[in-house]
Formats: sequence, C-alpha cells, structure tokens
Amino acid sequence: MSDDRPVRPADRFLVFGAPEIHEDDIAAVVETLRSGWWGTGPEAARFEDAFRRYRDADHAVAVGSCTAALHLSLLAAGLEPGDEVITTPLTFCATVNAILHAGATPVLADVDPETMNIDPEEVRRRITSRTRALLPVHFAGRPCDMSALGAIAQQHDLVMIEDCAHAIETTYRGQAAGTFGAFGCFSFYVTKNVAAAEGGMVLLNDGDAADRIRRLALHGMTKDAWKRFSDEGYRHYLVQEIGFKCNMTDLQAALGLCQLARVEANHRRRGEIWHLYQDALAASPIMCPSAPEPHTRHAYHLYTVLIDEAVCGITRDGFLDAMTRHGIGTGVHYLSIPEHPAYQDRFGWRPEEWPHAMRIGRQTASLPLSACVTNDDAADVIRAVAATVP
Ligand SMILES: *Cc1c(COP(=O)(O)O)cnc(C)c1O
Repeated sequence: MSDDRPVRPADRFLVFGAPEIHEDDIAAVVETLRSGWWGTGPEAARFEDAFRRYRDADHAVAVGSCTAALHLSLLAAGLEPGDEVITTPLTFCATVNAILHAGATPVLADVDPETMNIDPEEVRRRITSRTRALLPVHFAGRPCDMSALGAIAQQHDLVMIEDCAHAIETTYRGQAAGTFGAFGCFSFYVTKNVAAAEGGMVLLNDGDAADRIRRLALHGMTKDAWKRFSDEGYRHYLVQEIGFKCNMTDLQAALGLCQLARVEANHRRRGEIWHLYQDALAASPIMCPSAPEPHTRHAYHLYTVLIDEAVCGITRDGFLDAMTRHGIGTGVHYLSIPEHPAYQDRFGWRPEEWPHAMRIGRQTASLPLSACVTNDDAADVIRAVAATVP
C-alpha cells in the first residue's frame, strides 16, 4: 500500500462515538410511541429504578441531560451566590456552566498528568473560606482518587457532586462512582456508554433531596404533577418554587432501559478494544493512557492519546487531520476550560495557570471506542496511527 492511500475510503468513514443500536432499542421506542404516552411516565420510573439498582443507590431521578443533573444537584445542595465549587479544568464546558447557572463560582484545580483526574493536592491549594462543594469528573471513565477527595470533603465540610458522564460502569475500591458524594450525575447523550439520544440521571441517598430535584426538573410543581393527564382524572398541581423544564421523556427512558440491559456486555467489548489499542500502540511515539489503577474499574469511555510534536513530528491538529484523511473519526477531550474566551472574559483565567490541563488539552486526541467498533475497525485505526506517526 502506498503511503498516501487512505486506510479506509471515504465511504467507510469510521464515525467517532457512534451509538450501538439493536432492534430491541427500535422496538422499545416504537412500542412507547404506540402506547400514546410519550412524556415522563412509567418508562422513566422503570429506568430510574433499574439504574438505581445497577449502581446500588437509594434514589434516582431521571432528567433531560447530565448538564441538568449537575445544575439541579448544585441547587439542591443549597449553594448561595459567592460560594465556590472546586472542579477540574479538563472537562466538558457543561461542568463549569452548571456551576455558573446555579449562581456559584467555579474554581479550577489542576489535574494529575498521569491519571488526568483532578489532583487532591491541587484541590487543597484552592480551598478558601468560601469553598462549599467539590465537583470531580471521572475523566475517560477512570475514577478520581476518591479516598483523598472524600477526606478533603469531610475535613472542610464540602458537598461532593460527582460528574459521572464518562463513568457509568466505574468503581473505586468496589464502590460505584456516583455514590461517594451527595449527588452522582450521569449522561445518556448519544456518545455516552448508555445512550438515550439525550438524558441524565442523579443518584442520591437522601429522599428529600431527590424530591427537590424531581420538583425542580418540572417547573417546581407538586409531586406527581406528571400524572395530571393520566386516566386517573384531572389532578390539580401547585407550583411550590420556580423550577425548570428538564424532565426525561418515556421515549428516552425506553431507549435507556434497553441500552442499560447491555451495559456490562458493551463495557466488556470496549475494554477489549481499549487493550487492543494499548498493546498495539505501546511502541508508538504517541503517548498512551496509563494502565487502570488497582482496586478500580475503568469504564473505558474514552481512549485518549497524547501527541507531543517534539516526539511525534506532527502537531495534534495535524494528527487529527491525517486521521480524518485515513477515514477515522476522532475527538478532543478536552481543550482545557481556561482556553475558552467566555471564561477568560469572565474570570481573567489564563490556561498557563493550570499547566497540566493546558498541555493535555493541546496534545490530546481520542480514538474511536464504542461497542460497535469491530476488530477490523480497530486494526484500521491502528494502521492509520502508524501511517501518521511512523
Ligand atoms: C457529556 C458530558 C456532560 C454533559 O452531559 P449532557 O448529558 O450532554 O448534558 C457533562 N460532563 C462531562 C464530563 C461530559 O462528558
């Protein structure tokens, strides 16, 4: 094969983060459509129950997205203006936006360059008299150091809210991610490990907080307001506080339930691909992720490599372009939060203040990792990387 011939022709482009769709998923959505009940109802309740059991939590509240889950959790945590929430600069913008929408102030603590997760020592450095909450993100599905973060939260009386958008299957010393703090927030966006087109979930052990989030997700109306169009006759509802509109529909929940039934099988499959990449790319000049830590379960949501131009002879963006030419879709998780003008304008943040997150954000590239990637697809990805960074 000549060097410039693409590994995969354009008509076989490998889409990054393509969801794994079964006939069961389609049938479940069609059945829900035929039932005539599309809004929040019995399917959403079943999905909550199944998810709660899967992660061994007392309560689960289904909402419209992980962004909403984070936002409402922060509100339920009772934050006040000026309260500071410490989070990571290496995350999706939704994490920081949710803090801002809740009226609090985000404070960034740099990551450990090895795990790419928030560094507990950096968290300690950023604590002030205004710090009220800790919002760790289990990056790529690798759990944060929950022992150290839990100790900090306890010592400083901080509310812990976990962003588990990557971490549906993650455990740390046998305990499920999302059950360490007061609130665990999950995403069912298309590219996530359990997909429902859009959707989110909050796990929690406090029933009152669960009721509050449920109410906030539906205009602040009284409990069971979603039953107001049911066959049980009209029910009056009362608005008890000014809420939002971010409930989950039964169409999404039906899809989520089907996908959740395959969560372990899909995790196993992504683990296989993750290790295929890890073995094949170990000798490449690109930098591979470090092995999962003992006593943890990695969710294998992302496989991220680092492209150091000095070592690889190509820039990260050059690498992304070359992979696209080879018919391989890629992602970037993430340009560090302080690179974005909106936060620079608002807080005067400069990426250099969080050097590890800045470097990773400028060097990182994510390779396709989903349950529908075949061994042949993975071999193509590996060949494309080898052709790009010889
Ligand atoms: C996807 C993602 C979110 C947002 O999830 P949505 O369900 O799309 O709102 C939040 N945090 C992280 C780390 C994510 O990857």
